[in-house]
Amino acid sequence: MSVSATPRATAPLAPAGSEIRVLGACPHDCPDTCGLVTTVRDGVAVRVQGNPEHPLTAGVLCTKVSRYTERTYHPERVLTPLRRVGPKGAGRFEPCTWDEALADIARRLSAIAARDPQAILPYSYAGTMGQVQGEAMAGRFFHRLGASLLDRTICASAGGEGLIYTLGGRLGMKVEHFVDSKLILIWGSNAITSNLHFWRLAQDARRRGARLVCIDPRRTETAEKCDEHLALKPGTDAALALGLMHELIAQDWLDHDYIRRHTLGFERLRERALQWPPERTAEVCGLTAEQIRRLARDYAHTRPAAIRLNYGMQRARGGGNAVRAVACLPALVGAWRHPAGGLLMSNSGWVRPRGEALQRPDLLAGRQPRTINMSTIGDDLLREASPDFGPRIEAVVVYNSNPVAVAPQSSRVAQGFAREDLFTVVLEHFLTDTADHADYVLPATTQLEHWDIHKAYGHTDVLLNRPAVAPMGQALPNTEIFRRLARTMGFDDPCFEDDDETLCRTAFGDAVDWAQLLDKGFAAMPVAEAPFAEGGFPTPSGRCEFYSERLAAQGLDGLPDWLPNHEEAGSDPRHPLAMISPPARNFLNSTFVNVKSLRDIEGKPLLEIHPQDAAARGIASGSLVRVFNDRGSYHCEAEVSERARPGVVHGLGIWWRKLGPRGTNVNELTSQKLTDLGRAPVFYDCLVQVETA
Ligand code: SF4
Repeated sequence: MSVSATPRATAPLAPAGSEIRVLGACPHDCPDTCGLVTTVRDGVAVRVQGNPEHPLTAGVLCTKVSRYTERTYHPERVLTPLRRVGPKGAGRFEPCTWDEALADIARRLSAIAARDPQAILPYSYAGTMGQVQGEAMAGRFFHRLGASLLDRTICASAGGEGLIYTLGGRLGMKVEHFVDSKLILIWGSNAITSNLHFWRLAQDARRRGARLVCIDPRRTETAEKCDEHLALKPGTDAALALGLMHELIAQDWLDHDYIRRHTLGFERLRERALQWPPERTAEVCGLTAEQIRRLARDYAHTRPAAIRLNYGMQRARGGGNAVRAVACLPALVGAWRHPAGGLLMSNSGWVRPRGEALQRPDLLAGRQPRTINMSTIGDDLLREASPDFGPRIEAVVVYNSNPVAVAPQSSRVAQGFAREDLFTVVLEHFLTDTADHADYVLPATTQLEHWDIHKAYGHTDVLLNRPAVAPMGQALPNTEIFRRLARTMGFDDPCFEDDDETLCRTAFGDAVDWAQLLDKGFAAMPVAEAPFAEGGFPTPSGRCEFYSERLAAQGLDGLPDWLPNHEEAGSDPRHPLAMISPPARNFLNSTFVNVKSLRDIEGKPLLEIHPQDAAARGIASGSLVRVFNDRGSYHCEAEVSERARPGVVHGLGIWWRKLGPRGTNVNELTSQKLTDLGRAPVFYDCLVQVETA
C-alpha cells in the first residue's frame, strides 16, 4: 500500500498576491517560549517577529529566531528522504522516495523487533519543545513497538529533581513579578543570552531601584551589566548557598514564623549550615568572606528578594544538591510571602500536558521495556548484550536531537553511531553530525510548516503554533512520519489516525481555551500570584522540605550538601584547568550553527582563557590551541579574556563537529559521569589542559 499521501496538517495558505500574518510559538529550548507572528506573502514566509500581544514576548525575539526564515529556506535543507551510499559518518546519501524509505525502515525495524523490540532505541530531546512534534505520535509509535524507553536527562533533570525534593515540583514564582523585586540574584544564568525576556524585566526592576547580583564563574554579558558579580569556582554553588544560610542563621536574619509554619527539617538544616562559616565558604568558592557576608545581609534585609536560577549550576556532580540548597533560601527569610519574592528555576510544573493521552503508554500492553539514559549514549551504543543491560542496541531513531554533537564524550558517541551494524534513522532539517551517520535521513518540517502546542518553563502561558507555509519539498511533520511508519508496519490502532490539530487539542484538553488559542495564539494558565505565601508546597509534608524523607529513604542525604566535582580543581596536575562550556550567544545548543549569518557573528569556536593562564602557556588571542584531557583533544581559537577567572576556561558551545577545526567540538572533552540526582550529565565538571596547537 502506498502511504505517501498529502500531509494532513495543512497550512492556512494565503491566496496569491495577498499577505497574511500567522500566529505561532518559538519551539526552541529556551525558558521564554515567545509568541511568533509570521508574515506570509504569496505563500512564502518573509518575516518572523515577536507577538506584540503576548505579554512576555512584547513583540521582541532574540537574534537567532528573528532570522528563522533564513533557517527555513536554507539552501541545505533536507527536502527529500535520503538513503546512505557511503560509509557511516561520511554524510554521503542518495535521494529516494518516501515509499522506498518507509518500506525499508519498516522491514528492518520489524526484523529487529521480532527478536527483541528493546534493541530499538528512540533518541530525542528538545529540538522542538512542542507537545505534538515532540513525543506525541512518536511516543505512540515506540510504545506500540515496545522499544526501549529513553531517560531524557541531558539538560534539566538534576535541577528538576532538586526542586521536586525541596518545593514539591518544578515550580516557582511568576516571571512577570521580577519587575517588582528589589534584589535579584541571577544565579548560574547568562540571561542576556538565554533568558532575554526575563532580562528585560530585571532591567525594568533595576530602573525602579532593584539591585542585580550575578553569581556565575564566567564574567558573562549579564554579569557585566549587574551591580555585582560573584565569580565563584564551577561546582561550588551549594557551598555558597550553605554559607549564606550560615549567616542568616548566625545573625538570626530568619523569618521564624514562616519556617515554623511552612518548612520541614529546620533544626537539621541549621546544624548543617553552621558548618559553613564565611571563611570556609570563601575558600571553597574562591570568593572573599566579605562578599558572602554582604550578600547574606542584602538578601536578608531587602524585600522582596528573588532568585533567578538557571541550569548551568546543575551541570556538575553535585548539581541536584546545589539546586536543593539554593531552593531552601527563600523559605528561610520568608521571601515567598511576596509575589516578587522567592525563586524561579522552572515553572513547567504549573502547566501539565495530558502526557498519557498524547503518548499512550497503554500501547505497551503490559510490557516493561528497559530504560536507556540519553546521557550515556556513547557507552551504551558500544555495549554488548548482557543480563544487566539487555540486548545490544541494534537500531536508533533520532528526532529533535543531534547527539553526536551534544551528548558528552562525543568521540564515544561518534564511535557508537559509526557501527556498521547499527541501523540509524534520523528525522532532520539538515545534515547534522548525527544525520551524517544515518542509514536514512527523513526530511522534517520546521516550526513554520506544522501545527504544535507549547507550554513554557519560564512562564505559565500555553501557546499554539499554526503552520504559516506549506511544507518545503517533501518534508513532513514528525507526527506524519511516525503515522506513516506505523501504518507501514501494520499498526492499525485508531490513535495513529489522529491528525495534528486533534493532537494539539488533546494536549491540554479543557484546561486551556482553544478558541482563545486560535484567536490570540496564547492563553494564560491560572497560577497564584504568590503561590507559596501561605505554604502549600506540593511535597509529601505540604512544606518546603529542607530535610527530605524521600531522599533519606533512598539511602541518600536528606539534607542539601556541597559535593565536590568528580573532577575537582587541583586533583590532577596533568589537567590543571577547570572547563565549563556555556552556550555561544547566537546558537541554541547545536541549533543555528549552520545558519551562516549567525555563525558569522560567532566567528570561530572559542576558548576563553584568563591572561595569567594564557601567559603561562604562551597563548595569545587568536592562537589556535589544543584543549585536551584523557578523553580527547579539541582544537579551537583562544580568546585571552578576563571573562574567565584564573584556573577556569570556557569552551563556548556547541559547534557542529564538522564545522570546527579538525572535526571536533567541546564535547570531545566532557565525560559521561552523572550528577547526584537526576542521572544527568556533568558538562561543567571537566578538567583539561591547554597548549598552543
Ligand atoms: S529562543 Fe527564546 S528568546 Fe529566542 S525567540 Fe525563542 S523563546 Fe524567544
